[in-house]
Amino acid sequence: MKILNFGSLNLDYVYAVDHMVQPGETLAASTMETYCGGKGLNQSIALARAGAEVYHAGLIGEEGEILRKAVADSGADTSCIETIAGKSGHTIIQVDQNGQNCILLYGGANRSVTREFVDRVISKFERGDILLLQNEINELSYIIDKAYERGLEIILNPSPYDQNLEGCDFGKISMFLLNEIEGEQITGVCKPEEILDELKERFPGVKVVLTLGGQGAVYQDQERCCRQGIYQVEAVDTTGAGDTFTGYFIASMLQGKEPQQCLTLAAKASAIAVSRAGAAPSIPEREEVLHTDL
Ligand code: ATP
Repeated sequence: MKILNFGSLNLDYVYAVDHMVQPGETLAASTMETYCGGKGLNQSIALARAGAEVYHAGLIGEEGEILRKAVADSGADTSCIETIAGKSGHTIIQVDQNGQNCILLYGGANRSVTREFVDRVISKFERGDILLLQNEINELSYIIDKAYERGLEIILNPSPYDQNLEGCDFGKISMFLLNEIEGEQITGVCKPEEILDELKERFPGVKVVLTLGGQGAVYQDQERCCRQGIYQVEAVDTTGAGDTFTGYFIASMLQGKEPQQCLTLAAKASAIAVSRAGAAPSIPEREEVLHTDL
């Protein structure tokens, strides 16, 4: 079974600064690093490292070849990544001496998805294939409608949550993978049990994976509800924990594992990711997850 991840590809430009630049100020940064990121890219890399047959679809600008290469190097298929005129999606990140950050996001190519591109991509997939989406590209509602029409099973990670999502037909979603904040934004209730009850009531038959940061994660479908705590590690950088969890949960599900086992593998992979710096570079390979004792 193939999985299509239609999502963002971002260049993250990270500048180390003494303090955040103030209005009217010109400030010299002491270092500058470029990283490949975006929830779409991170989740494709996590899926590929977890052993799934993943196809990434998305758009990059002329300076974005490094993004295509990062996805390809992980083992994911990049034939549905196209280059367009203009800039790739990118962020300008200032990190101060206390480790606080300020992020300026420019959607760029990620927000230039056309319906013609969507039609071309979706036509390459068949009934029963999986589509994974996050909320960092435009035309999400159209993608959901087209994929549903074609019989794809749609998994939505509604992150970051914003008004764009309100135009989407959530009735066409087979599985939500979300954190507590997104759960609250969708349902209007805030306790994990209430979020799960509300999602079950509003979308009968939907599967839900609710991640709870340091409290672990919960899986719920029509028949069962399973819980998983975290693996205790020294947290170095939690960026990308959710993306690692998403990739590992879905890949394990596609490998035919039971939900409890999927949760366990996803929790272990994300704990390993949390124990080291960076987002995409910190995502472990499947072998490492299987052979690491935590
Ligand atoms: P992000 O947006 O920062 O990538 P998220 O909010 O989508 O993350 P979380 O719920 O914070 O996702 O974390 C996902 C999973 O990662 C958790 O369910 C847990 O298994 C693991 N995790 C998160 N933080 C830690 C931690 N400090 N130690 C070990 N595991 C963690």
